[in-house]
Amino acid sequence: MPIKAVLFDLDNTLIDFMKLKRMCVENAVDAMIDSGLEMKKEEAIKTLFNIYSDQGIEYQEVFQEFSRRVLGREDYRIMAAGINSYRKTKISYLKPYPHVVSTLTELAKKGIKLAIVTDAEKMQAWLRISALEIGHLLDVVITSSDTGKKKPNLEPFKKALEELDMKAEECLFIGDHLERDIEGAKKIGMKTCFARYGYNGRSIKSNADHEIDDINELFDIVR
Ligand SMILES: [Mg+2]
Repeated sequence: MPIKAVLFDLDNTLIDFMKLKRMCVENAVDAMIDSGLEMKKEEAIKTLFNIYSDQGIEYQEVFQEFSRRVLGREDYRIMAAGINSYRKTKISYLKPYPHVVSTLTELAKKGIKLAIVTDAEKMQAWLRISALEIGHLLDVVITSSDTGKKKPNLEPFKKALEELDMKAEECLFIGDHLERDIEGAKKIGMKTCFARYGYNGRSIKSNADHEIDDINELFDIVR
């Protein structure tokens, strides 16, 4: 059966999310040190990532908790410096992986429907989609806010199929996470493609139907 829709995971499949996160955190630490934080840069970076691993990678109060952990109080001069620098970095460096925009554009031109199925919350997901300037290319966007469930739960995949009005076997799912993306999509009956270039997949062997090192390899698969 020919592929009529291509569905993408967002973070570390279309965006190099972890690289962005590292840059944001490093610049925030520099700014906090410039504002009077007395701490070694590496140690501060480690502390911030520890907070993310405790509270979730999208935790929004990370600088407040950092200040409480490190200084025993909320130091507004230091927190504000960190937050501003983090936000500035995020706005300037939120970019897609190479060939994302051209590949999505070409697929859309061929009449292939395009969708995103992400575990990010709706506002966070749309802020990223908007920054990547790919919103106009997408037919369907399913976030964790839409079903209350995260991959590999089948609900987000089902919701995407419903909104695309397609059968699973007409769809190809691309993601960097073996369990959430590949196993989830496989279970519902979609064709699968492992984004080996993504953060989670670099050195793992998958049992996806396809594996790619660059998103433009999708042309050969969809053809
Ligand atoms: Mg991902």
